[in-house]
Amino acid sequence: MKAYPMIIDGKEVKDGLPVIEVVNPATNETIATVPKGGAKEAEMAVSAAHQAFEEWSNRSAYERSSLLKRWFELIDENIEDLSRTMTVEQGKPLSEARGEMNYANGFISWYAEEAKRIYGEMIPATQTTKRIFVHKQPVGVTAVITPWNFPAAMITRKVGPALAAGCTVVIKPAEQTPITAIKLVQLCLQAGIPEGVVNVVTGDASAIGDAWLKDERVRKLTFTGSTEVGKLLMRGAADTVKKISLELGGHAPTIIMDDCDIDKAVDGVIAAKFRNAGQTCVCANRVYVQESIADQFSAKMIERVKELRVGNGLDEGVTIGPLIDEAAVNKVQQHVDDAVSKGATIKVGGKRKEGLFFEPTILTNVQDNMLCMREETFGPVTPITVFTTEEEAIQRANDSIYGLAAYVFTENLSRGIRISEKLEYGIVGLNDGLPSTPQAPFGGFKQSGLGREGGYYGLEEFIEVKYISVGL
Ligand code: ADP
Repeated sequence: MKAYPMIIDGKEVKDGLPVIEVVNPATNETIATVPKGGAKEAEMAVSAAHQAFEEWSNRSAYERSSLLKRWFELIDENIEDLSRTMTVEQGKPLSEARGEMNYANGFISWYAEEAKRIYGEMIPATQTTKRIFVHKQPVGVTAVITPWNFPAAMITRKVGPALAAGCTVVIKPAEQTPITAIKLVQLCLQAGIPEGVVNVVTGDASAIGDAWLKDERVRKLTFTGSTEVGKLLMRGAADTVKKISLELGGHAPTIIMDDCDIDKAVDGVIAAKFRNAGQTCVCANRVYVQESIADQFSAKMIERVKELRVGNGLDEGVTIGPLIDEAAVNKVQQHVDDAVSKGATIKVGGKRKEGLFFEPTILTNVQDNMLCMREETFGPVTPITVFTTEEEAIQRANDSIYGLAAYVFTENLSRGIRISEKLEYGIVGLNDGLPSTPQAPFGGFKQSGLGREGGYYGLEEFIEVKYISVGL
């Protein structure tokens, strides 16, 4: 079995450390190990990133851009290996893993270009004897903490803009999916990105996280994961007043208006809900369908869900892989059982299969007080509920502590724009079940997070603004 190392200051680190086993959720087999690092390794990584910062941030934007491009090319050349690695450690179907790798690499190429466009400003001064310059500088050493559901994209979406801006990074990938991260960092070194600029530490999450939170040299923390851990990190970052970006939980409402194109809406909901077996923070968690088309919409959804194929993501034709672990399966079952106990009807699916698999499920007669309508299910379950008026749909959709993504399906343009503007969500898919893309700002309102990733907005998160007042 392969024992993967951490990478600190360009060197492989694993000797003398205990290990964490990485398990394939489709087969329950241990596929590799990674070192179980802690505070010591976390600090070593910060020292390396801190040391590398001066040189890296002083390189020209053009040099950083071409090194990022080289990294992009190497990822592209290795895309099949990376995709298979991802499927084996995370479980998603191979076609989805390939899709994620291309999406993930899209952040590297986009930010390789954008590195050259971090413009400053000159503002007219009040007196003719003064000049006001606005200069943009990298924020400094950045801690990157990522989840298991997108093992590559959550890293490139943060590391791409960080490197473009001139920051250096220390990464802690999720314990379930560290191999994709380690391979990405190995390619980074191969691309010629200097030692110490990108470091990856695996192991004890809270020991590593605490060490980074306490360290004054870490000036920025960017995190994707649960709202619970996000709040903990936000509190911890206060002591050293770090800049923070948080991509936390979501509970995406999906509004299906009676004037929608039903086939388009069904396609959209299937894509938004069942991708990654329902394990994304922008998954369509609750579907509100207007009364007059409810039966027709549900019937088409049921037909499509019956076509989904559950199995090992490496097998041809599989569209739903396993859930990540036993706790995830239990949570999904709990949400289904709770809904049924409060009067919901299972139209298809509803139970776990052998191993960590769960049947793609549709629930109808769903009420707003059910767990699945309030908490993230993070599994392949679609609760469908009926509404009467547009106002009611908007009010129910906004009744959540979360505000990440929402979806609306209508062929009436004015209505679509009107509803989109009233939704208290950072991302709205209007007749679009897959809005994520590297050049657009991704992020949430309310308890779904702080800051944006992707596009120019995502770069600003890694930049400090310096005002230089010049007296002539
Ligand atoms: P999920 O529910 O998706 O697993 P988590 O928020 O638990 O979300 O995990 C997201 C990332 O945060 C993972 O890399 C995990 O190891 C890390 N993490 C969990 N707890 C802590 C902590 N106390 N400090 C720092 N990182 C943590």
